[in-house]
Amino acid sequence: MTKIEIDILGGGREVGRSAILLKANEKKVLFDYGVMFSDGEPEFPLHVAPKEIDAIFLSHAHLDHSGGLPLLYVTENPKLITTKLTAEITELLIQDFIHISGYFLPYEHLELKSMMQSVTPINYNDSMKIGPLTVKFLNAGHIPGSIMTILEVNNKRILYTGDINTINTRLLKGAPKKLPKLDAIIIESTYATVNHPDRKETEKKFIKGITEVVDNGGIVLIPAFSVGRSQEVLCIIRAYKLKYPVTLDGMARKASRIMLRHPRFFRNYKLLVRALEKAKWVSGWSDRRKACKKPGIIVSPAGMLKGGNAVFYMKKLARNERNAVFLVSYQIPGTPGHILLESGVFNFGKKVEKVKSRVEWFDFSSHCGRKELLEIIGKMKKDTKVILVHGEEGDIEKLGEEIVEEFKLEVIVPKNGDKIEI
Ligand SMILES: [Zn+2]
Ligand SMILES: [Zn+2]
Repeated sequence: MTKIEIDILGGGREVGRSAILLKANEKKVLFDYGVMFSDGEPEFPLHVAPKEIDAIFLSHAHLDHSGGLPLLYVTENPKLITTKLTAEITELLIQDFIHISGYFLPYEHLELKSMMQSVTPINYNDSMKIGPLTVKFLNAGHIPGSIMTILEVNNKRILYTGDINTINTRLLKGAPKKLPKLDAIIIESTYATVNHPDRKETEKKFIKGITEVVDNGGIVLIPAFSVGRSQEVLCIIRAYKLKYPVTLDGMARKASRIMLRHPRFFRNYKLLVRALEKAKWVSGWSDRRKACKKPGIIVSPAGMLKGGNAVFYMKKLARNERNAVFLVSYQIPGTPGHILLESGVFNFGKKVEKVKSRVEWFDFSSHCGRKELLEIIGKMKKDTKVILVHGEEGDIEKLGEEIVEEFKLEVIVPKNGDKIEI
């Protein structure tokens, strides 16, 4: 029986630039091809010759999985297999990436256009054949449109999770916990050592916080990522039937418009529609200024306060103790959001000042925590190879050791450039 070879091109002991090449029976397929940001400069995965690729499977739209893809469309047009929703959101995010990156990006709108023309759309639970390979796609529960991919060849079955969440959120159904028998699982490890608090409890604390602030005449600013988190927050607010005015700003508006065209990917599409209908979509600066004048809720990117209209709202609102800033996503160290949480200060433009409004952080993660990762891995059969990717150096090895000890499975924590045989 011929072997299957897995080449780690990116995302080995790092979170960013995910890229995995799989070779079997003369076929080569690629899972994701992302970008990583360190010190502002984009870093791409190891090279792969696009003309040798038979198909690319894109797990979801986040740039750490999609941001390198246009590089593969400079001279070739490899088939890009993903959900229609992921393709459209990816286009939006890469357009924005090109726009903000300026001259140093090694591709342009033309390559993005070729990429979009190469999309073969699939849905959850679809199967397809690529020569001797059989491929199936499952909901990954991470962001709207996200998939896990199961690949079968030579009587072997391999799963690539992409980014994954097994719990139900307001917006999305969790990824299925019951998986078929696998010979290898390539699984993300973002929260290798961290457990998330109970989701319902977090929601309740969040709603209580909003109620306290707005009933007291204040405004709650919720800086949130455009894709997924903004809509999740709006759905939570709607599910608890809060009557306060809600304002939606930034790229979250464009992302929401795309999502509204794809009902099938949502857990409760009606809730999403109602949540988005109830919100006031900002259409210009006068709307923005108005939103700062009356008690209510403002949802606006960027999620870590690194640019976007959230910065405008911070300048307007954060000096007033009546108001609040509720951060709802992971804050990368060094970002203004992280600095705000750690030291209670914000750069208001002219100088760095103490923030007077209430500042809180809520864990509405869209990734499995440590507990959920172990739950998935604990169900694997005894000869399944566990390949851990997409995790911070240090933490990811710790998770690996834990799996070996607890489940006696073979664990591989590859570095970029490593090759694994199945
Ligand atoms: Zn992601
Ligand atoms: Zn990711």
